[in-house]
Amino acid sequence: MVHYLDHAASTPARPAAIEAMARQLVHGYGNPTGAHRLARAANRVLDESRDIIADALGATPGEVIFTAGGTEADNLAILGTLEARGGIALCSAIEHHAVLDPVIHTGGVIVGVGSDGRIDTEQLGRVLTPEVSVVSVMLANNETGIVQPLGEVADIVRRRAPQALLHTDAVQALPWVDVADQCRVADLISISAHKFGGPQGVGALVARAGVSLVPRLRGGGQERDRRSGTQNVAGIAAMASAAAETVAERQAQVVRVGALRDRLVDGLTGRLTGVVESGNRQDKTANIAHLCFEGVESEALLFLLEKEDIMASAAASCSSGAMEPSHVLAAMGFSRSLAGGSLRLSLGYSTTEDDIEAALAVIPPAVRRLRERG
Ligand code: PLP
Repeated sequence: MVHYLDHAASTPARPAAIEAMARQLVHGYGNPTGAHRLARAANRVLDESRDIIADALGATPGEVIFTAGGTEADNLAILGTLEARGGIALCSAIEHHAVLDPVIHTGGVIVGVGSDGRIDTEQLGRVLTPEVSVVSVMLANNETGIVQPLGEVADIVRRRAPQALLHTDAVQALPWVDVADQCRVADLISISAHKFGGPQGVGALVARAGVSLVPRLRGGGQERDRRSGTQNVAGIAAMASAAAETVAERQAQVVRVGALRDRLVDGLTGRLTGVVESGNRQDKTANIAHLCFEGVESEALLFLLEKEDIMASAAASCSSGAMEPSHVLAAMGFSRSLAGGSLRLSLGYSTTEDDIEAALAVIPPAVRRLRERG
């Protein structure tokens, strides 16, 4: 039996989402821009899904732009704003590459974080200039789970650069944070379905009323001319179904999963020496255990864990499969060698006590074995 502790990379699809997707693919295959009955039915599903996503994110339906995932939503937020308004972008040093790379590519500004993994708000205030047109600070980090002080960031942006839009990458946050409440201060919000029990390759960007973006994709003018291309109706229906369930059970899951995560981290730090937890646990989403093991290489540890059916990851997963040193840990001041022994165990709605017991049984001897090997 597989013990899946990699929910921050991708979550297993919720049964209700799979059902919604299958229903659409089998019966609802009309193109939502068409005029006949099947097309109108598909369009109705889009409308209903848009209402659900808007509700989950504290937005109005007209503010929701469906995309092909979190990366596209982040790129549209940053590049679409830069093209519409000119100026430069600014983001924190711990953003996902879907934000970091567009900001760097366009000559933007990067703001550091403290050793606690939270954005350096003093530095943010200092580097905000009238030239900055979009600021991007994520709600929850994908490696450490650390939740950023978005309200404080918004205050500083409004004070120092009132012309700038605030974007937040909330891709990791929906199951653990009240996004509708926390993101009230944001002009642009990105989400991705496969982080909360929906399918991969579908997501959304909220762009508040009055925020204009230059589209990245041009064509049929779907999504009110902000994102052309026939919508992935089946994927969107599944995302909406997963979002509704996720939001409905959030409070209970935060308590349940938070207790499992604490048992896991306390169990590992109690059984092993030379373990460093990144940041402060009270700043983190309830599902992430992120630890660095002295004298261990992540890759070797992951290999041993996989042999015992524990699925985890070292840092952000990356397409090449090669382990790059984590830019998040580097920004927090971790040495290269300590960062090289990082392990992210990310829990989710389907995680059980069994999964935690298995991890507690497997990880300590694996770490000891690698240390003995030197
Ligand atoms: N932003 C964050 C914080 C993420 O964790 C991820 C996925 O790992 C993305 C963006 C990219 O989302 P997607 O995989 O849907 O393109």
